[in-house]
Amino acid sequence: MSTTSRLCEIIAQGGKVSTDFEGGDDGFSALARHGYLRKAGVLASVVCNECDAPHSAPIVYEADGYGYYCPDLGFLSLDAARLAAFLPDIPKLIERLSEALGCRRRKSSSVYGKTWRIGAAQIDAATVMLYFHPTLATEDDTRELHHALAREARSEWRLVVTAQGALPMVGLATVRLDDLAEIDVTTGALSVIADPGVLAGVPRKNLGGRPSAHGDLLRLLIAGRIRDASAVDSINAEAREVRDAFAAKYSDRPIPSDSAIKRYIREARGGS
Ligand SMILES: [Zn+2]
Repeated sequence: MSTTSRLCEIIAQGGKVSTDFEGGDDGFSALARHGYLRKAGVLASVVCNECDAPHSAPIVYEADGYGYYCPDLGFLSLDAARLAAFLPDIPKLIERLSEALGCRRRKSSSVYGKTWRIGAAQIDAATVMLYFHPTLATEDDTRELHHALAREARSEWRLVVTAQGALPMVGLATVRLDDLAEIDVTTGALSVIADPGVLAGVPRKNLGGRPSAHGDLLRLLIAGRIRDASAVDSINAEAREVRDAFAAKYSDRPIPSDSAIKRYIREARGGS
């Protein structure tokens, strides 16, 4: 699972998570390390997997530390580090999305309820107004989103980013966070991997055959390497080769992120 998909999963849970009891994988620790998750005290309860029937038990503090009572095994102590609870840092996520999309007019607090305004992204001649709502899975979600948007100035093109679900809504495009952005597991950098204009339904301007973004250049380069059999099997190694080739060939352009390069390699290989 990608780091961004992992973040979606955590946001969709809607509560505190802990590295130990919710699966302390690489994605989780990267998200915590890079500030996408913030510390939120300790867990209130744990699930006991030590006895025959898994059961949940409240965490208690005894003279010598944290633990819980299991009906079969009695008091079981727990390492305090394993009990640290985390919550998704939504304001930080909004800020990073806004920066990666080059948005203006971000709102630093929620518009209403759980709806945030990421800001206005300029796509050719069109302005796409981006919003975030954690989940779009229930009627309550859409009702709250509509309440929030009713407080906003009407914009022609709107796109709502969410971590889970995508209820169809009239005049409102939605996208899952992991389909719009990618978080680099090493650096924590968030990069945009899809065109918000296309997602919001902005008609494409004819660019007269000139490749508009580095995506087209990357596709050409990767396809060329596969064609002349210079591509290597390892995605990581191939990504380094592609990156160097890109830098040499298009020295006047910003080098695409490693995650974007890998994504185009996977795409060229027919995977996902
Ligand atoms: Zn037990």
